[in-house]
Amino acid sequence: MVAARAAPAEMTAEIIRLVDVSKVYGTGDATVRAVDAVTLSVNEGDFLAVMGPSGSGKSTLMHILGCLDVPTTGEYRFAGEDVSRMDERELASIRNRRIGFVFQQFHLLSSMSAWRNVELPLLYRAARDRKQTALNALAQVGLSNRVDHRPNQLSGGQQQRVAIARALVTDPTMILADEPTGNLDSHASREVLEILTGLNRSGHTIVLITHDPNVAGVAERVVEMSDGRLRARVAA
Ligand code: ADP
Ligand code: MG
Repeated sequence: MVAARAAPAEMTAEIIRLVDVSKVYGTGDATVRAVDAVTLSVNEGDFLAVMGPSGSGKSTLMHILGCLDVPTTGEYRFAGEDVSRMDERELASIRNRRIGFVFQQFHLLSSMSAWRNVELPLLYRAARDRKQTALNALAQVGLSNRVDHRPNQLSGGQQQRVAIARALVTDPTMILADEPTGNLDSHASREVLEILTGLNRSGHTIVLITHDPNVAGVAERVVEMSDGRLRARVAA
């Protein structure tokens, strides 16, 4: 469908625009307002951390931001498109084309080499030079010397870097990282956060979700969640 857009993303460079977004689970006495009237804007090139304790609504917000779920009420525009009322097929298309996910658990396929793991998102599109594109993404995370290693031949930090390369390989509009250092020791955590910082410096838009203030501290902007509500945090 060809529809006129009021505000093309190219003009505003606004990647995320949440207006009064709520997500409500359950009914009656069992109602949980997991995300409560959240308004948030993220521009191209931003590095935002969403911080909050367990149960504050981070995962629910992350599912909405990542187009894995839609809000109960409110509006979500992603790169100028209203995704708040999209159906599952349309959401899947936005996710595959525009969002690179990094999870706490890496989610690598253990039987495949690093470069094959990174190539995976390209198999769903008619991409040429898939191997070279995967190798370039691995070079960006400093793993050119590990491209043929399988996950169990890599350290935790290296596995997460492979996962970051896999998130990068489609040249996404946004990288969404949910507790990316949650399974890593402090050395590997630093390594992964340095990679994310470097990617942001080279122009990538990153949203990082974490309970850990030290992790959130690498972002240029931090917002805090508590009981589903969001508030800006003054940087120390
Ligand atoms: P966090 O990721 O910060 O720990 P969550 O977004 O997972 O927080 O959860 C926020 C609140 O919403 C919690 O009270 C949780 O119990 C509730 N919740 C999350 N998912 C569901 C669900 N699918 N059904 C009902 N309640 C949920
Ligand atoms: Mg969570």
